[in-house]
Amino acid sequence: MKYIDEFQDPDLARRLLDDIHATVTRPWALMEVCGGQTHSIIRHGIDQLLPDAVELIHGPGCPVCVTPLDVIDKALEIASRPGVIFCSFGDMLRVPGSGSDLFRVRAAGGDVRVVYSPLDALRLAQEHPDREVVFFGIGFETTAPPNAMAVHQARRLGVRNFSMLVSHVRVPPAIEAIMESDTCRVQAFLAAGHVCSVMGTDEYPALAERHRVPIVVTGFEPLDILEGVRRAVRQLERGEHTVDNAYRRAVPAEGNPAAKAMLADVFEATDRAWRGIGVIPGSGWRLSERYRDLDAEHRFAVTHIDTREPAQCRSGEVLQGLIKPKECAAFGTVCTPRTPLGATMVSSEGACAAYYLYRRLDGDGTRGAGRTSEAPAALEGTSVV
Ligand code: SF4
Repeated sequence: MKYIDEFQDPDLARRLLDDIHATVTRPWALMEVCGGQTHSIIRHGIDQLLPDAVELIHGPGCPVCVTPLDVIDKALEIASRPGVIFCSFGDMLRVPGSGSDLFRVRAAGGDVRVVYSPLDALRLAQEHPDREVVFFGIGFETTAPPNAMAVHQARRLGVRNFSMLVSHVRVPPAIEAIMESDTCRVQAFLAAGHVCSVMGTDEYPALAERHRVPIVVTGFEPLDILEGVRRAVRQLERGEHTVDNAYRRAVPAEGNPAAKAMLADVFEATDRAWRGIGVIPGSGWRLSERYRDLDAEHRFAVTHIDTREPAQCRSGEVLQGLIKPKECAAFGTVCTPRTPLGATMVSSEGACAAYYLYRRLDGDGTRGAGRTSEAPAALEGTSVV
């Protein structure tokens, strides 16, 4: 398959690995920002092929995982109300809130529907003018433009029974927060290529300079990851800290101007809580004043929610790269994709799901290489990313 097979070529992978092995002279810790990259790394065993001195720390770039608990609980409350059609991508349905999830709300009679686009939800609103249709708009800079488009269209078409529960997050403030953390071990970042295909690379040079950290824009196929690692360790070994675009086939420096214009029209920056991490200043988007009447949080007045995280779940530490999933006592025992305690075990991008799915169940990850039969439900439905 064009643009896939050539980026999985084993001979080229071996050459990149040889170059990395020849380059590295001391320990380095790199963070891959995106959960899609994490899955690619674990699925292909890339972390096991790298020199022992190169550690890959899994970052917080899983939109399902970082959606805060209070927003999940608000979604559950709105979805439970009579007259509401609550629309979401499939991977949000099993994400546990404080006491339930959207699947259970649906089983109890709530009208919860899986859609493949926010525009599907808008169409439902047009078809059911007597119902309130709410779309669960979460994710990073990748999903924000189509969600912004749906809000823009709702206003343009005068669809008054459509609204959006918004919990969008942005990557650069998260990188800033990670670097400013007292526990930070990250020495270089593999930035998320798809995010940069929307937003471009303009926000990164200041971050790289301020924190003296190399940032390599990286794709998702095995050779993309290896090339990102190769460029990052080269910079580290040379004492450099620049922004390097290793995903030029998809990422122009300016990003996607049309998508950025749509984002600027519909959203405004806000502080946002990340599940398991806490509030990161300026890290989110909410609907701007002009579109505030389409904000489901205001329309349904779900502003005060008491949340309860499961005490056993250490997903916050997983998301910050402080522990690997298998270091959580609940991993693979009480917490599995069928009985998830935290969102990182549910999502198609979650690190815990990746470790479970690809059988990293023991200490060194060498047991039972391959995929489990118990795939996360998220992999069987529509995805936020
Ligand atoms: S294995 Fe389960 S309980 Fe442990 S951190 Fe991951 S999601 Fe939370």
